[in-house]
Amino acid sequence: MGIPSGRRRKFILMKYFGAHVSASGGVENAPINAHRIGAKAFALFTKNQRQWKSAPLSSASISAFRANCEKYGFSPSQILPHDSYLINLGHPEDEGLAKSREAFLDEMMRCEQLGLDRLNFHPGSHLGKVDEETCLRKIAESINLALEKTSGVTAVIENTAGQGTNLGFKFEHLRYIIDHVEDKSRVGVCIDTCHAFSAGYDLATQDAFDKTFMDFDAIVGFGYLKGMHLNDTKKALGSKVDRHENIGVGFLSTDAFRFIAKDPRFDGIPLILETPNEELWAQEIALLYSFL
Ligand SMILES: [Zn+2]
Ligand SMILES: [Zn+2]
Repeated sequence: MGIPSGRRRKFILMKYFGAHVSASGGVENAPINAHRIGAKAFALFTKNQRQWKSAPLSSASISAFRANCEKYGFSPSQILPHDSYLINLGHPEDEGLAKSREAFLDEMMRCEQLGLDRLNFHPGSHLGKVDEETCLRKIAESINLALEKTSGVTAVIENTAGQGTNLGFKFEHLRYIIDHVEDKSRVGVCIDTCHAFSAGYDLATQDAFDKTFMDFDAIVGFGYLKGMHLNDTKKALGSKVDRHENIGVGFLSTDAFRFIAKDPRFDGIPLILETPNEELWAQEIALLYSFL
């Protein structure tokens, strides 16, 4: 997916706003769907996210995906694939853990085949059966196993709202996992604004935003930031409930998103909307670009 030099100028857009688009009918449709809404980044599922097994990607689908990314100007740093919701890399039971690890490896290999360089996933849940630290160690070990068997793809841990028994709702959890991953060059994080706010990290005012990302930088480090999910939230600060809302109509208002647009620390990575009403995505992307 190299960019032909004659067209290079067109791609010097440092903020890559986009959305998690549909890949229905084949992964090759995702870049087309992204282009249609004016996106300069996109997320996708490379398989059915609610099933354990899917057919392998066909070579026709892989080449069409690469061709469409080239055609519409999407390089790997503008694409953030998301893994299946069924996977729990910190599963407390052997069978569930083995199944999750196998499925995660398959997801990593699909990214490899598509020429993508990162895979976004939720760290995992202890299901009330083991303590947090044991679960976090299992997650790191799961990442190590997948990295050993693949190359070129970074495992991108998403922060969570802390709903149920999900871990990853504290920056310290992300740090702990990174500390236990052997190849630090292939582990990263994705910060979801809705999840962060629900977990108690305020982003709604400039002071709160600055404080949250100062803490993030001190605990995790901006060097590990490989993507962001831009979502407003239906729930209050610290609610620990994960309910995305469209931009500007939830507790975050448009301010948090303006702070991100204006901040160069969020340049050059996929900034992905996962807001519930996808009819509004083109409008939301235009709004985000208007902040620049
Ligand atoms: Zn997610
Ligand atoms: Zn998210």
